[in-house]
Amino acid sequence: MRLQDKIAIVTGAGSGFGAGIARKFASEGAHVIVADIDTEAATAIATEIDGTAQTVDVSQSDSVRDMVTATMAAHGRIDILVNNAGVTHLPAALDSIGEDEFDRVFAVNCKSVYLTARHALPFMRTNPGANILNVASTAGVSPRPRLNWYNASKGWMITATRAMAVELAPDGLRVNAINPVAGETPLLKSFMGEDTPEIRAKFLSTIPLGRFSTPEDMGNAACFLCSDEASMITGVCMEVDGGRCI
Ligand code: ADP
Repeated sequence: MRLQDKIAIVTGAGSGFGAGIARKFASEGAHVIVADIDTEAATAIATEIDGTAQTVDVSQSDSVRDMVTATMAAHGRIDILVNNAGVTHLPAALDSIGEDEFDRVFAVNCKSVYLTARHALPFMRTNPGANILNVASTAGVSPRPRLNWYNASKGWMITATRAMAVELAPDGLRVNAINPVAGETPLLKSFMGEDTPEIRAKFLSTIPLGRFSTPEDMGNAACFLCSDEASMITGVCMEVDGGRCI
């Protein structure tokens, strides 16, 4: 039980990697706030793992503040905050992405990290040993054509992780990231554009270990980084990518 009695907020935990992280955290003893814009999805996962469902739009300040307020009221502290909720745009030439689409990707992937910090840090600072995990992407390290602004948003998350880590270390807070390679989650379809056997095979050929990542892979990596076993680790952006970024 590596996360016994920890209070953990996981955003975007209604599906995909976030759900994998929430399930692993719960199996290691944490109480998970399953936070998602999709209330039904959050409720389903929260029910499964005996956590708390929280509807949130991570791109909206009031909504993030309400999530933090509700968590503090119910549990009195936040030990772990996982910024996982994310969106992408469809693969397209970088100058063809509309301004609304650009704003949406940066609001959900990047501004959210600022908003959760702004609202949760006043409480986390008084809780040494608390930590933050950002779910970035291999796309932020090794960008591929046509996912241009999504790649850039994930690169932003990686730099934000390091910037937050160096500033928060004196408070005893750690900040890390994981960089997943594509998994078979709803986002995969967006990455591939079209889901054909040929496109899948081409995609897989870029992953040396020869398989897509799974929500369980992310849960295992996240659990380690967010547990006391990683108490000397901060500012790390760990690839969970089957060698994709080698
Ligand atoms: P991944 O492959 O990254 O796990 P998914 O699409 O499966 O991708 O999961 C992303 C999760 O993030 C979904 O459950 C989705 O509802 C959630 N999400 C998307 N936008 C927001 C938002 N603005 N606020 C909170 N959750 C969001």
